[in-house]
Amino acid sequence: MKSPFEKEKFKTDVKDALKILYRKNLDEATRQEVYQAVAYCVKDVIIDHWMATQEEVRKKDPKIVYYMSMEFLMGRALGNNLLNLTAYKEVKEALEELDFDLVSVEDEEPDPALGNGGLGRLAACFLDSLATLGYPAYGCGIRYRYGMFKQQIQDGYQNEVPDNWLKNGYPFELCRREYAKEVRFGGYVKTIDDGHGNVRFVQEGYQAVTAVPYDMPIVGYNNGMVNALTIWDAEPIEVFQLDSFDKGDYKKAVEQENLARNLVDVLYPNDNHIQGKELRLKQQYFFVSASVQRAIARYKKTHPDLRRFYEKAAFQLNDTHPTVAVAELMRILVDEEGLSWDEAWNVTTKTCAYTNHTIMAEALEKWPIEIFSRLLPRVYQIVEEINRRFILDIEKKFPNNPKMIEKMAIIYDGQVKMANLAICAGHSVNGVARLHTEILKNQELHEFYEMFPDKFNNKTNGITQRRFLLHGNPLLASWVTERIGDDWITNLSHMEKLAIYAKDKKAQHEFMNIKYQNKLRLSEYILEHNGVEVDPRSIFDVQVKRLHEYKRQLLNILHVMYLYNKIKENPSMDFYPRTFIFGAKAAAGYKIAKLTIKLINNVAKVINQDASIKGKIKVVFIEDYKVSNAEWIFAAADVSEQISTASKEASGTGNMKFMLNGALTIGTMDGANVEIVEEVGEDNAFIFGMSSDEVIAHEQARDYDPMEIFNTDQEIRQVLMQLINGYYSDNDTEIFRDLYNSLLNTQSTQYADTYFILKDFRSYAKAQEEVEKAYRDERGWAESAILNVAHVGKFSSDRTIEEYAKEIWELEKIKVLKIK
Ligand SMILES: *Cc1c(COP(=O)(O)O)cnc(C)c1O
Repeated sequence: MKSPFEKEKFKTDVKDALKILYRKNLDEATRQEVYQAVAYCVKDVIIDHWMATQEEVRKKDPKIVYYMSMEFLMGRALGNNLLNLTAYKEVKEALEELDFDLVSVEDEEPDPALGNGGLGRLAACFLDSLATLGYPAYGCGIRYRYGMFKQQIQDGYQNEVPDNWLKNGYPFELCRREYAKEVRFGGYVKTIDDGHGNVRFVQEGYQAVTAVPYDMPIVGYNNGMVNALTIWDAEPIEVFQLDSFDKGDYKKAVEQENLARNLVDVLYPNDNHIQGKELRLKQQYFFVSASVQRAIARYKKTHPDLRRFYEKAAFQLNDTHPTVAVAELMRILVDEEGLSWDEAWNVTTKTCAYTNHTIMAEALEKWPIEIFSRLLPRVYQIVEEINRRFILDIEKKFPNNPKMIEKMAIIYDGQVKMANLAICAGHSVNGVARLHTEILKNQELHEFYEMFPDKFNNKTNGITQRRFLLHGNPLLASWVTERIGDDWITNLSHMEKLAIYAKDKKAQHEFMNIKYQNKLRLSEYILEHNGVEVDPRSIFDVQVKRLHEYKRQLLNILHVMYLYNKIKENPSMDFYPRTFIFGAKAAAGYKIAKLTIKLINNVAKVINQDASIKGKIKVVFIEDYKVSNAEWIFAAADVSEQISTASKEASGTGNMKFMLNGALTIGTMDGANVEIVEEVGEDNAFIFGMSSDEVIAHEQARDYDPMEIFNTDQEIRQVLMQLINGYYSDNDTEIFRDLYNSLLNTQSTQYADTYFILKDFRSYAKAQEEVEKAYRDERGWAESAILNVAHVGKFSSDRTIEEYAKEIWELEKIKVLKIK
């Protein structure tokens, strides 16, 4: 059989698709239309693989993992699908013959930004790894009509613009209306006694919506496997489906229509922070209920006994957001399938597992009983019963110890605590980096660890090298393949073989030249999108991630201000030119975060315009940081800024993407940085600042006073005064006062400088001096950069997924016959 991507055939297919889709010839088509036509042809091939995978699943009846997540930050699909189908090169050449450039065609695709940051991107990397490793899996999520907002910078401020990603139609999704499910909210629970002591519980007077699944194919790398991400859309119940009583109820019909309309409109734009909004709880129950229903329906098609459901299904809860799955599974098993409580509980605990992503207090999900019980009356009763039994267990294990109940009860103080429910009801609790898991066991979840020591385990995060090197950095990917072969694409530990080239002069030279080419590519992007000219020969020092106080972008920009003062004071000072690159979205309601963006942009404006410093420092804020531009940013980075307050960043995954692309880390001993340094060696990274133990000790003793630093360190004081003397704000002394206060004024916040920015400042500045010194040693730098790539193996999401599959899910691989 001819390859579906054989050039002549593919060219004809694209032309045919343009006719079918748009009634156009190639020369009349817009670039968007060409993108749609190419995607159409690629999807056609994917569907053959998809059906073959389904057939194999039907034959082998393997256990399936359902990765439940409110967020999937997928990035663009076209290029990634082509690479995983190993057809990128063929298609690129075919399009060239049609006078189109594949990269510009890819640029027509919107980023399906159905996530905020790291948590959502992790889910996307996991799906790529699951398919590539041959594990049958479904992602379960929400088809938000508006994804993460688009960020525009106006006068230095962030503006949020709706991201209408479905505007042109999204080619890589398939509506599966035949699997629609009904999801019910509100009403009350009616108890029906059959007179023989059997009680049934029925929800009545509820409002319902129809959950309609859209499946996005997830293509494994070169293995014929296609899994799916199922994202649920909400539609009003068709009127003819309503029962006769409801049919006449116009008010109810309108309410149900509105419920469906609003339910999946927006993704809440918070990262590591929960807004206790009723609509958010509705979204959670909506996609979880639909996903659990679909998993059970799939199981029941070929299996008679739901008491063995866990043998064929695993639910992984990505943070507490989908935790209501626990109670929904219990509800269906007990109320609808007639299992006893104990039978259902046995199934539920063996099916569910929970991943913790943070120790930040403001990210812990708690729902007021009033909201939870009103919205989910039957589910709430089930949570009450789980809680009642759990408290008996706690009392048995820790007699006369009310503290333990206070800490672990699921319902306490008028609130339903979702983490407590997830830990009680799941068989596994994992942190996302070694340090993070240790902090969970010893601090945040210590009581739970005493109660259930065997549930706790670590799964250090990872990233997919297919997207973040093979696709994002084709020059380096080819260079690596030329030297060590292409095994690294599916087994990143092979990168180790690069280590022998670290000291090789020619290899160093080639490596640095590729880095230069990537810096050139990013410079052009920055010029086009930001209108700022940067020098690709300068050090590209990059901090891209969500804007959050704990991530300390403020530390970075204060340090830039400090350097600028130094150069101004001593213009002839020896200073290696550096471009400080930032990219970050702030939650729309997070004032201090948005003000930090404004500060970065104002500092950029002053410094970039100051000819007297001869371009020694440039500051760039890249608008609208997202997966597609992230790929280019990592490829171009020399320095990776991972400077969170120790203990606060659970893992980080940006740190790993930088490492994969040969950037050197400047960072604290936090999250996965600890393991990165362990792999690459301290000599090839720049570590500074307090340890997590020191941070935790200061937090507990409450003995840190930033005023002491302000009073004794004249250079830091100068920088802080520049926040309130109008230096970076056209003499407006008030704009940045909240930032100043957050660092020094105990009245404005609970504690001044909660994130120890001033405390770590000197040690950060020192580490930055070391960076400059190291960069001046061209060969030494190249050696370190190559060693970063060589030692990145551990941080592939393939490794992470193998650990989940073996230690939590007990999955087995399947093999799909390749059709080609
Ligand atoms: C990897 C990634 C993140 C997470 O970055 P961290 O530095 O780990 O916080 C956020 N957003 C995008 C677009 C990413 O690709």
